[in-house]
Amino acid sequence: MSLKVLKFGGSSLADAEHFRQVAEIIKSEPERRYVVASAPGKRTSGDTKVTDMLYECYELLFNDEDITDIFEQIKSRYNDIIAGLGIDLDLSEIYEKIKRSFVHNAGRDYIASRGEYLNAMILAKYLGFDFVDAKKVIFFKDDGSFDSEKTNEVLRDYLSKHEYVVIPGFYGSMPNGTIKTFSRGGSDITGSIVARAASATLYENWTDVSGFLMADPRCIHNPKPIEIITYRELRELSYMGATVLHEDAIFPVRYSKIPINIRNTNRPEDKGTFIVPETDNISEDTITGIAGKTGFATITIEKDMMNSELGFGRRVLQVIEENGVSFEHFPSGIDTMSVVVSSKELANKRADIMSGICKVVNPENISVEENLALIAIVGRSMVKTKGTAARIFTALANAGVNIRMIDQGSCELNIIVGVDSNDYITALQAIYDEFVK
Ligand code: ASP
Repeated sequence: MSLKVLKFGGSSLADAEHFRQVAEIIKSEPERRYVVASAPGKRTSGDTKVTDMLYECYELLFNDEDITDIFEQIKSRYNDIIAGLGIDLDLSEIYEKIKRSFVHNAGRDYIASRGEYLNAMILAKYLGFDFVDAKKVIFFKDDGSFDSEKTNEVLRDYLSKHEYVVIPGFYGSMPNGTIKTFSRGGSDITGSIVARAASATLYENWTDVSGFLMADPRCIHNPKPIEIITYRELRELSYMGATVLHEDAIFPVRYSKIPINIRNTNRPEDKGTFIVPETDNISEDTITGIAGKTGFATITIEKDMMNSELGFGRRVLQVIEENGVSFEHFPSGIDTMSVVVSSKELANKRADIMSGICKVVNPENISVEENLALIAIVGRSMVKTKGTAARIFTALANAGVNIRMIDQGSCELNIIVGVDSNDYITALQAIYDEFVK
């Protein structure tokens, strides 16, 4: 039997009008049974998200400042929704209790989590669904990592006894009962966890865009939407900066092969993007999407006969690791090796890393080149298509872009090229134009 888990993002639950749209979507299919709610997002572009207001509360309290004004503003966000929906719900006592906890040193995560807690409570009331506090069904371990086994067991048991439920996203509880949140945007993860525990047939993630686009619309004008993408392709694209879905949201559903459908609350007629475990569906464009990031640096090490020196690469990478910097790629030649790292991470570790590498491998030359942008061209169809790399390089050459680095993932799912940051947009456009029809 079909069962759907739905997550609504902050912009989909920003005001009473959006709550109405959301209720219409949920009620249009009886299999839409478990709903994960975010905190109210921005109503207009100049507005502030409730979660950001809550973090501000924390900052004020931390600096011993008064939170009366901001707390009143938060309350009125919820009271406006309640009044706009005309439901009979009085949260005054709950607000007072929350405010008291805030003032009595409730943790930062507890404070941030109240955004989803209150919104989910209102949504449950409006829909006539059961409300469950996420602290009772989503668990973290002592080391702060998510406890998937305990969560899955408790949540599955809870859901098996409740037909229609609203669950606040973003947080859960630690073994000692205190509240812990996921990282920002974490309601996506809650949705995925609920989908797994419910053995859902589909996880619908409702937001304010009609799915993923083949490229970042801030860089490419009106990019084509992606209809189908595999989890692995999406991992590659999200890692390289494509947002919409929290990058950790794929893991719980991936485990049970549940597809995710990204949908637009403001345009429910759009099909959105399907994120699936595997697919034979080959896109006519060869590539599925392009994503990229600027702000990388390359550390290049040169030494004659490097390739015959056992453990050379390991020693270099160990220095980088010991300095707490993670590396992105390490393309190598016979007597050269480069390590691509984030410039920001490198900034205050640069001297230590350089001297550390000199000490462990005694290179002839070592240098750092900044201003590298990485572009990932991702596509499951690339494995079966000849000439993709040639087309990328020709397109870049024709656009006058010099390639500073090339890396093809071993799964042949992606090709990553490094270009000068100044060429970033030109390079993205050239690759997009080459592949997208
Ligand atoms: N409200 C939280 C945030 O703004 C979590 C979420 O919306 O997913 O990050």
